[in-house]
Amino acid sequence: MKASKVKLANLPTPISKATRFSAELGAEVYIKRDDFTGIEISGNKVRKLEYVFKQVLEQGYKSVITTGGLQSNHCRATTAVATKLGLKTTLLLRKTEDPVVEGNFFLDKLFGAEIIFCTPDEYRQSRNQIMNKIALEKQNNGEKCFVVPEGASFGIGSMGYFNAMEEILDQEKEMGIVFDTIVSATGSGGTYSGLYLANKYFNLNKTIIGFSVCDDSHYFKNHINNINKEAIDYLDKEIDLTTDDIHINDKYSGIGYAISRPEELEFIEYFARLEAIVLDPVYTGKAMYGLYNEIKAGTFDNAGNILFIHTGGLFGLFPKQSQFEY
Ligand SMILES: *Cc1c(COP(=O)(O)O)cnc(C)c1O
Repeated sequence: MKASKVKLANLPTPISKATRFSAELGAEVYIKRDDFTGIEISGNKVRKLEYVFKQVLEQGYKSVITTGGLQSNHCRATTAVATKLGLKTTLLLRKTEDPVVEGNFFLDKLFGAEIIFCTPDEYRQSRNQIMNKIALEKQNNGEKCFVVPEGASFGIGSMGYFNAMEEILDQEKEMGIVFDTIVSATGSGGTYSGLYLANKYFNLNKTIIGFSVCDDSHYFKNHINNINKEAIDYLDKEIDLTTDDIHINDKYSGIGYAISRPEELEFIEYFARLEAIVLDPVYTGKAMYGLYNEIKAGTFDNAGNILFIHTGGLFGLFPKQSQFEY
């Protein structure tokens, strides 16, 4: 890999077997605890941000702007990282009916982010233009501002999970095990892209499956392929890119991004009582629920050792607390 990083996360994150869950399903399910990457920076985004912020610092930026939903883990992690490095943060957040200050949004404010809202339509159609315009205004005022796209899912951000795969290979040696199938939630595609590229780069022949939490598999195959095309600039070897071997399961995104169905929340409770591990309602809860159902349906019968990447999201659970009937 030709990129380098700033060290921000607590790595390597541990891998442990979900023993009772595995026994119930008759499968071998291990969990990589990327929810342990830190407290303020918890989750998968910091792995990408380690590479992004290396560029930000090297190129002399004074601030960053990024975007996401009101409860974006990415926006919270970016704000925490920028603050730690002495940089200012602006967040362009998709405004919902009445934004309650809680969870990740509360932490954004606690860390002192400047918040700008946009409508869901603006978010869908022109979030990058809006961010570029704001960055330009800041630049004209003498504050060089770096634009981080949604989820840090772009070329350099992809190196975060390329590096995570290198970490997994070291852990396989230590543990004396091979993970045949790797599973994670897919929201903006950067996590999948990094794992995918490392799988090809090192000829690992692992099956990598992303459970979509929003768009359909057709969208993600193209979107991830585009991230891959940007990311190969940071690799020192040719890699054949095709959408054919990008595996996205879009059957468990439910009734929409960040909206929960009762069965998903019941599954989070079931899993918490089985493994004492907290899944989040937006990403890992849907992905693990998908994995659970697919294993039960027999589609993972040849999956071998399965490694589920717990990508974090804890702070997004608390705004959903009232939907649990306790
Ligand atoms: C962003 C996020 C994901 C999805 O990762 P992408 O790289 O955006 O696909 C999964 N889980 C959590 C908790 C996240 O915050």
